Amino acid sequence: MRLRYATLVITLTLIILLLPIASATDVVVNPVHSPNGAVLLIIDGMGSSYIYPEFVPYDLDGNELGKANLSNITLIADGGTRVLDVRAPQPSTIPGHSVLVTGYSKANKDTVGEMMTIFDIAREHDYICMAVMHKGDFKEMRAEQDAILFDASHSIREPSIELEQTVDLPMDVLELMQEWQRNLLSYLEGKDGVERYIAYNEWAIDASDAIARFMCENQPEQKFLLTVNVGAVDLAGHYLGSDQYLRVIEELDEGIYDLYQTCLENDLVFIITADHGMTFARTERGKEVGGHASDKYAKTLEAQRIPLIINGPNIRKDVIGGTYGQEDLAPTLLSVLDVMDVLRCSDGDIIPVKEYANLRVVIDSPTEVMVQKGGITIASASGDDVTFIGLLPSNYTVLVSSYEEHVNLASDQIVEFQISRADHRVTLATTMIFVVIAGGLLVIRKIMKE
Ligand SMILES: [Zn+2]
Repeated sequence: MRLRYATLVITLTLIILLLPIASATDVVVNPVHSPNGAVLLIIDGMGSSYIYPEFVPYDLDGNELGKANLSNITLIADGGTRVLDVRAPQPSTIPGHSVLVTGYSKANKDTVGEMMTIFDIAREHDYICMAVMHKGDFKEMRAEQDAILFDASHSIREPSIELEQTVDLPMDVLELMQEWQRNLLSYLEGKDGVERYIAYNEWAIDASDAIARFMCENQPEQKFLLTVNVGAVDLAGHYLGSDQYLRVIEELDEGIYDLYQTCLENDLVFIITADHGMTFARTERGKEVGGHASDKYAKTLEAQRIPLIINGPNIRKDVIGGTYGQEDLAPTLLSVLDVMDVLRCSDGDIIPVKEYANLRVVIDSPTEVMVQKGGITIASASGDDVTFIGLLPSNYTVLVSSYEEHVNLASDQIVEFQISRADHRVTLATTMIFVVIAGGLLVIRKIMKE
């Protein structure tokens, strides 16, 4: 008799424990081609005024400047989405990188340490975050990476590449990064002037390609986010004038083909952007110098306008007009990776670059969720956190219990419903406990009678 009571208690306890606790359900409405990760290439100081066919760059005196002749960047843009007008709210290296990774237009390096970044969310979704950075590699940014190769000296003349890791990465990945840490010198040997600038960039691109390729070949199941900053376009702009600035951009364009191929072959998203642009002015002696952060430069389109080119297995072929901000990159990047999570402090919007959109419905109590289009149910599921994947951008109605919400789905969205004040789970648990106690009392009464 006592044994049966114990069995009853255990069974009911198990039922209570197994009641649905916030569980996520994915419903694939249409199959999608999610990427295996992303390479985020930040070309320091490359303004879109110098590379987009629609724009003409001017110097501070209003003289028209030359433009870069590109082949690979054009190829990458033509195979994906190019966003035409993207402005950096703070056209300066550290704030620019901070805005890129937080999705917050007023971000600075402290914010990167305090706020949620794309790396925090990627890591929650089992990504490895690695970086190769000439610039933008401030302490708070390095702390966001699982491992980073960076130039601690910020000097092309005497670079000092260091490797930092915050978690234990597999030994073979680290050995590869150590190998690249050592071989910058072989790229720079015997090179001076602009040739040295070009080689400095080449090293970062080749190191990134080697790391990405290694990950895809040796750990094909491991998703990763690789952030790359090449610094020599910016340095050429500051010190060598606009002709050499354009030359360094063109040489970089030549050098990124292999990295692009690695992305293409392995279903990685390839994103090309910048922390800020560049404006040129002539000194009294007639020397041309570039700038972007100080007042007289920062207010120009040449300093503010940055490229945003996204190429990947789930990206539309398109050129997107309208005005966007650098803060839109972070939420857009997460959306491209099909990571349905929110950067809580971001004031950026998802740019609709994907061929489809996902809809996540979060409810305070598990119930039936239906998605309708034109009065016809196209998908349904039960739960308190349901993501409908692969919807065509359109208008939908979400029905939950007796509630409904109309959604204009241009890009990924999260809709929340509050359908009950009392927590059903607590109510149910209380009822179960009452049943157990009542049952126990009955058993005891029966034993006492016997
Ligand atoms: Zn910069």
